[in-house]
Amino acid sequence: MRPTLGAATLLDRQSHKRHDAPYLEQLRAGAQAKFLVLADQKPVIRTNAERTEATIRWFSRDQLLRLGLPTADALFLGVDRVTGGGCFAVAVTEHRARNAPGGLELLRPIVDLRTLAMQGAMSSEELSLLGQAKALAAWHENARCCGHCGGTTLVKDGGWKRKCWACGQEQFPRTDPVVIMLIVDRAGDRCLLGHEARFMDKMYSALAGFIEPGEDIEHAVRRETQEETGIEVGDVRFHSTQPWPFPHSLMIGCIGIAKTTEVNVDPNELQEARWFPRAEVKLMLEGKHPDGLWVPGKQAIARALITAFVEGWWQD
Ligand SMILES: [Zn+2]
Repeated sequence: MRPTLGAATLLDRQSHKRHDAPYLEQLRAGAQAKFLVLADQKPVIRTNAERTEATIRWFSRDQLLRLGLPTADALFLGVDRVTGGGCFAVAVTEHRARNAPGGLELLRPIVDLRTLAMQGAMSSEELSLLGQAKALAAWHENARCCGHCGGTTLVKDGGWKRKCWACGQEQFPRTDPVVIMLIVDRAGDRCLLGHEARFMDKMYSALAGFIEPGEDIEHAVRRETQEETGIEVGDVRFHSTQPWPFPHSLMIGCIGIAKTTEVNVDPNELQEARWFPRAEVKLMLEGKHPDGLWVPGKQAIARALITAFVEGWWQD
């Protein structure tokens, strides 16, 4: 199984054309150009009354002009493979969206991407495109000033670069690597799941943590697991990855084989962690656990790892 939020492949990104300002302007002004809107990084969508179906709400440049929303620094997402039109994202504050003339009618509903991913009413292709737009917009929010001299930075390359007007330093959108690991015992009968204070009640998931400078994936898996639970990990097997736009991470999913079994939780990181036998994990996946314990939904790579454990993926 693959998580619903994945690589954004709906559009042709045309990354090699981003530096071509006249080409981007031609796309932006083209009749087929369309723009999605993020308000405080939450997408404006279209949905039916029952909220069982959702799609991205696209706007024309004229519509955005009438709403008083800027398109000059619109983020270039790529080109529609069918129409050849340019697709862009415009990021504004929710306050601005709500106060735009006609905004209350047109710029709604505004739904948080995580909620959208959990509801399962939008196609994974569109969700992933929104993830691309959101991660890019989140980076811009925090890159307004130059990290070198503190000068103001300007948007370049359709939003794929910022350049300091004072010293010329260039910045590029960041992706932060995170390891997410499901630790299994040596016999392969049990896996280690944790519950963080910020999690919803009774939800358990795989452990995770940021990769540090000078560290490889395997080391990060072993270090984070040791820090959070006291468990020593030996073999680390790569499983899959997922872009995670909260705010702009790349989740690197691994299965780690434990060398020890005694759990010693760091209360600053986790509320609880314990070993779960396969049959119990299966019930959690199916939503049938007698105590109501559950695992993340299909939007998350954690579920793919947990499913891999139940199916004995790494034992092949
Ligand atoms: Zn500078």
